[in-house]
Amino acid sequence: MSETINETTKASPIKLSRKPASQPRMPDGIKTACIRTFGCQMNVHDSDRIRRMIRDAGYAEVQAYEEADLVVLNTCYVRENAVDRVRGHLGELYRLKREGRVKQVALTGCIGAAKESAELKSQYNIDLILGTHNTYELATFIGLPTMEETYTPNLPGTEDGHNSFVTIMTGCNYQCSYCVVPSVRGRMVCRPVDDILAEVERLVKSGTSYITLLGQTVDAWREDGKRFCDLLERVSDIAPRVSFTTSHPSNMEDRTLRIIGETDTIVKRLHLPVQSGSDRMLKAMHRGYKAERYRRKTEVFRDSAPGGTLSTDIIVGHPGETEEDHRQTLKLVEDCEFDSAYIFKFSPRKGTEAADLGDLVQDKVVQRRFSEVLGSVEQNAFRRNQRKVGDSEEIYIRHGRTDKGESIGETWGGHAVYVDTGAGVGEYIESKIESAGPHALYAREYGRN
Ligand code: SAM
Ligand code: SF4
Repeated sequence: MSETINETTKASPIKLSRKPASQPRMPDGIKTACIRTFGCQMNVHDSDRIRRMIRDAGYAEVQAYEEADLVVLNTCYVRENAVDRVRGHLGELYRLKREGRVKQVALTGCIGAAKESAELKSQYNIDLILGTHNTYELATFIGLPTMEETYTPNLPGTEDGHNSFVTIMTGCNYQCSYCVVPSVRGRMVCRPVDDILAEVERLVKSGTSYITLLGQTVDAWREDGKRFCDLLERVSDIAPRVSFTTSHPSNMEDRTLRIIGETDTIVKRLHLPVQSGSDRMLKAMHRGYKAERYRRKTEVFRDSAPGGTLSTDIIVGHPGETEEDHRQTLKLVEDCEFDSAYIFKFSPRKGTEAADLGDLVQDKVVQRRFSEVLGSVEQNAFRRNQRKVGDSEEIYIRHGRTDKGESIGETWGGHAVYVDTGAGVGEYIESKIESAGPHALYAREYGRN
């Protein structure tokens, strides 16, 4: 996987080795390309498509900018610090280009779809800017015939062997006060069920053992009276292991929550972003639900999958957030006992409603609230993870060895587990949980399946 720079503070980070593998310079005549991915899993998946194009065009993929003829930055625009990070990379690439070490730079993804990209193009001498809807135009830029049909979002990217993402919908029909996604990714488009199932079947036949269904509001998927729960059931009949992200509480049906608990092939993990525990804030954010409704959904999930894991997204410091609103969020965090959470400080994004609201929360107050929410999530997560110590668990190996030589696996409940094993990615092992921290479990292997 290319480097993914996730601009979030997650209360359960998993550290993979991010060191670029040192590679010898390619022999003369072989073109090289480097892809850097910023942001969410949607972007990781888009980068897979980009990877397929550059390989088809005869490029060898390299990990370091200095070794690349072409650099593709596939970007995130959700928060300002994500853009700052990309600016840093663009500055370095501008210098490498002037020194003749990099020949071309392309910027794709969510920044590419934003107005700001025109300014970046001239400031950093970028050769090609593409948004999320016309990524396929990269094909002609790198010398392939026009490939609009071959590389549209309906078609798969490069499979990562055992784990594959399958996009089932793009865009978003919500208008959350703070969010740029609808303006950079457009309105929701659901992929036809037959296309999705055909892709899942093909992936499983070619050796994929874990399918993750992807979309900004994945549970909003629908087609001709069919809903997400129907699709999830069909996919879980075909694939040996299934998960999905990201869900929206307004679309999450009890039936889906029940199916998660009842179906052996579905990982019992739910990522359900709540954003705030205060009804006043949820209204200002235009989230479309109240805290009580959210709580009820989580109760149905816990009841359906008692050993499962529940995670969320929370924004602190949205304009107008008072101490009482913040207390409501802390209360919700306590009640829901999240297993992990991505916590974000509000970042004003040009063109969104919240950017013009005024009534800003002071930085130092935001920082304090952020630490309080983080502390509370971590305490809850630690308590829950401690209860797992001593359990025997079947673990799916998801990632190869970390810097410390351990592999990262996943329980059927969706817990991340560090384990010392010779088993490869995609294999299952039997293990005993020996210890637990707030972010992960630590296990010992005692058998292979
Ligand atoms: N579609 C998903 C949902 O509604 O739950 C989330 C998609 S968004 C890419 C991921 C997360 O980024 C959001 O859940 C929100 O917590 C956070 N986010 C989005 N815009 C933000 C902003 N302007 N400031 C801070 N956090 C933001
Ligand atoms: Fe953004 Fe809201 Fe859509 Fe999620 S649901 S992508 S937060 S607008």
